[in-house]
Amino acid sequence: MAEERACRKEGVQVLWAPWRMHYIEAPKPDGCIFCTATDDPSLRATLVLGVTRYARVLLNKYPYTNGHLLIAPHRHTAQLVDLPEEEFRDLMSLLRHAVAVVETALHPQGLNIGMNLGTCAGAGVVDHLHWHVVPRWLGDTNFMPVVGAVHVLPQHLLESYDRLRPYFASLLESVENESPYSHQR
Ligand SMILES: [Zn+2]
Repeated sequence: MAEERACRKEGVQVLWAPWRMHYIEAPKPDGCIFCTATDDPSLRATLVLGVTRYARVLLNKYPYTNGHLLIAPHRHTAQLVDLPEEEFRDLMSLLRHAVAVVETALHPQGLNIGMNLGTCAGAGVVDHLHWHVVPRWLGDTNFMPVVGAVHVLPQHLLESYDRLRPYFASLLESVENESPYSHQR
């Protein structure tokens, strides 16, 4: 009961993630970060955890919490309604899989799952829709600024990547040469 009350209180707090200032202030790369994420043969370098026929999942380079995942369709579109049914279903299936992985691997006490469509809704990348899966723990509003100081974050991200990657590995193998987007793999 006490934990439930604490969760309710924590849940409404705004996460303080100062390293995100690097993202906000840094020059934005050319091209779409989702479309180019799989260009690098080393998926670890771009934090891509898994790829399905029509969608991809990657770690957010500027996370709100440890294990903050982004799930995006391969199709470059800002409109959810533009996704053909099959691609939408694949995206949702990958979202569900990502939630299951986070729960199994990281044991969060809660999760924020959401999609921001449009700049005024808070979307950082407005042209390519994506889901956010943000694991939450009691006290994470205080915890991450301590462990996730900017200078240790890259290593922290790779540790998270290595921990989560095995849960998505089978996805990648199963779509080799199968997806119409394989060239983007
Ligand atoms: Zn894109």
